Amino acid sequence: MSTFTDLGLKEPINKALTDLGYQKPTVIQEKAIPQIISSTDDLKAFAQTGTGKTAAFSLPILQLADADNKNTQAIILSPTRELAVQIGNNIKDFSKYLPNMKVVTVYGGANIEEQMRALKRGAQIVVGTPGRTVDLINRRALKLGNIEWVVLDEADEMLNMGFKEELDNILEVTPETKQTLLFSATFPREVEAIARNYMTKPVEVTSGEKNQGSDNVSHEYYGVTERTRYPALKRIADLNPDIYGIIFCRTRRETQEVADNLIRDGYNADSLHGDLSQAQRDSVMGKFRKKTVQLLVATDVAARGLDVDNLTHVINHKLPDQIENYNHRSGRTGRAGNKGISIVLVNNKEKGKLRPIERIIKKKFVETKVPSGKEICQNQLMHLIDKVQNIEVNKSQIEEFLPSIYEKLEGLTREELIQKFVSLEFNTFLSYYENAKDLNDLSSRDNSRGRSSSENMSRFFINIGRKDKLNPAKLIGLINDQNIGDKIEIGAIDILDTFSFFEVDKAFEEKTLEAFTSNQPDFDGRSVNVEITKKDRSGGGSKRRGKKPFGKKEGGFGRRRNSEGGGRRNDDDRRSRSSDRRSDNKSRNSSDRKPSGFGRKRRER
Ligand code: AMP
Repeated sequence: MSTFTDLGLKEPINKALTDLGYQKPTVIQEKAIPQIISSTDDLKAFAQTGTGKTAAFSLPILQLADADNKNTQAIILSPTRELAVQIGNNIKDFSKYLPNMKVVTVYGGANIEEQMRALKRGAQIVVGTPGRTVDLINRRALKLGNIEWVVLDEADEMLNMGFKEELDNILEVTPETKQTLLFSATFPREVEAIARNYMTKPVEVTSGEKNQGSDNVSHEYYGVTERTRYPALKRIADLNPDIYGIIFCRTRRETQEVADNLIRDGYNADSLHGDLSQAQRDSVMGKFRKKTVQLLVATDVAARGLDVDNLTHVINHKLPDQIENYNHRSGRTGRAGNKGISIVLVNNKEKGKLRPIERIIKKKFVETKVPSGKEICQNQLMHLIDKVQNIEVNKSQIEEFLPSIYEKLEGLTREELIQKFVSLEFNTFLSYYENAKDLNDLSSRDNSRGRSSSENMSRFFINIGRKDKLNPAKLIGLINDQNIGDKIEIGAIDILDTFSFFEVDKAFEEKTLEAFTSNQPDFDGRSVNVEITKKDRSGGGSKRRGKKPFGKKEGGFGRRRNSEGGGRRNDDDRRSRSSDRRSDNKSRNSSDRKPSGFGRKRRER
């Protein structure tokens, strides 16, 4: 394997790389750097995120750009602000010993005047997001007439994000003579079209097989239903006490909901999506980098610029709409020589998406069972024991307390002492998972309308329906509003024209009847009447029993239920939790919280 000097890089650059701890080039650097230095041919590079691609295109540009000429000679386009900033900072580090070389980073959401002033002072290299770059070209603050290199970094992502028009506009105002360097992890049709339209006979280099994922990532899938998706996620987190990962969701709403639930349940989690202000995003990313946040719940776009090398897991809460994006997600782990696991939670319908992904990544997904409570307890316990084994004892600090501690514990044998201390840390966990269900039994159908989802559910008739503008969310809100119990689980819901059916956990049968009887709620002015029904399997319908009188009372939605069973929640509730989620989470109290016995920083700290 060659060194950076072998690649032809000059001394000031090598010195900066040594300062950064880069000892030898990565595969893509080894292939791209000499190619760009020695040839003006365009270059198409297949490179995953985390392969060292930033240095692969920046170093040759730094090598060749004229530091005594203040004109902009290279424009590097990147899909997100975060990635642009990261590239800009990397180039500053690489050019530490090239005193006249200047890089300016431009992106939306920041003061444009300041960026214009920085450009006016002169920068040989400009890094920008497509939208802001176009804006600055239009304002004549950014002049691309002397451009020698255009870099399209994460080209697939830029196109995914809808920057086609901006790319066209930018490329049109660059000189014909420029060298175009296109870096992409995947090469869907749209990227190939850009290559065809704007590049001349590009040389291809690759850090691995085209579109293929990293060898350091193993891929696992867990079968879930909508009811078990969230509990399965929690169990995976509980099984891995040192988990440090990104949970990918498809929408902002899904992201916020999963993050809210995890925070409520006591995990070190936070969300990252487009609804957050830039300051909030920076703060979340800062906490994640420092590992104050262990689980980052994010949309694909928001997570793009995140530069973290040591993630243990990537979890696909839901698979991306475009399967090519799976590569981007899983590529967040297994970086810089580390190993990583990419997990997918799939229901029966989603399973069909696994094969096409396998064809892209050229690897098989390993079917993995959702861990049982016992397995989790065992793992957590062993993790604790390992910590005890490895903890450094600071004798001088504890010495003065030891005599009275020894005295207090005098009568205990070694075995008793071990048992007590293990129980102290372990009891909460053990009791939390004591009656934990087997989440691998997928036989109960998701939200199975028209059917009893389980023998453990009681079915109720309610005298309101579609004509009263009732929907499942409103019905859940109405049930939750009756204060039946934090752990109540709501099963199948059938909304019919003038009446409806719903199921609740059998254990809550009496309480549900009692609550509706004594509260006498109304729904939009209509008295609500709830009766228990008998399941009639032969006819598919339900027979009512024990009609009870109900009167009027103020209705409303908003209270949530808590159970490992997860499931539907009403929208008002979701909104209220979203809006106050950044306030003190300690004040949240939930019986479903993660047992905070051990295994991770507690939120209280
Ligand atoms: P990138 O793919 O450019 O985002 O780089 C991924 C990570 O690898 C970054 O943290 C880089 O600082 C690091 N890196 C890049 N090239 C090297 C190298 N040759 N040796 C060590 N680390 C590197």
